[in-house]
Amino acid sequence: MIGQPVVVKMQLYALEGNSPISAANASRSQAYHCPECQGTIRKRGGEHRQNHFYHIRRPASCRQHGKSLAHLQIQLHLKSLIHPLFLEKRVKNRIADTLWEEQKIVFEIQCSPLSLQEAQNRCQDYLSYGYTPVWILHDQEFNRKHRSPAEQYLRSHTTTYFTNGSLIYDQFDIFTPLKRAYKGPQLPVNLTLPQQTSPFPGRSWPLSFQGDLLHWTQTHDTSSLRKMIARYKRSRRQNPWAIAYKFLLYRLLEICS
Ligand SMILES: [Zn+2]
Repeated sequence: MIGQPVVVKMQLYALEGNSPISAANASRSQAYHCPECQGTIRKRGGEHRQNHFYHIRRPASCRQHGKSLAHLQIQLHLKSLIHPLFLEKRVKNRIADTLWEEQKIVFEIQCSPLSLQEAQNRCQDYLSYGYTPVWILHDQEFNRKHRSPAEQYLRSHTTTYFTNGSLIYDQFDIFTPLKRAYKGPQLPVNLTLPQQTSPFPGRSWPLSFQGDLLHWTQTHDTSSLRKMIARYKRSRRQNPWAIAYKFLLYRLLEICS
């Protein structure tokens, strides 16, 4: 279990001079620097609370400062699964949440709202540095009835899963222009086993993991899923909102002519 999301801002690593130091090994009496914004940070936590760093002054913009406990718990969960995994590691101009150097994979955890521009920038930067970005989007913000442009972009362009706080999963879903029309069962993903993919409608991912939809489609008959996609595509043409809109447009043209 990763636990329930609680909104507490936390980060796990600091810089002591130029060397990274973890919250577990840091001293409460000493000041450190944030690896991202260079602001002064100190350690807190202990027996009943995860050791972490906090910024003395609220930074204008620093992703480390904005991390929630849910975010940090997923980082630690990944670290417990994959050895060796670096947390909050600098990769050129970015601080990667979790870095699997051996496989050239960066896991990006997202528990808060994200703009399309930021999603695109992060993906393009990691790809240009030679790493594959793999996203884990938290249910508290994503996988809702209406998806954000960032979620739409990530799910179609790069390997992107969801988490409910206790499970990292993939799913088969279908969208109409207005909303998520169908959400399949949660498929647990094994992030320790990356594999090459073959494409599936609506998805061109660089990487697949054991248990995900792309892996599932390689070992199962996908005709029923493809039929479902075709059925929703057909019904999209008769979308009631589009029909209502056309009707109003024709009425307006009639009135104006
Ligand atoms: Zn910072």
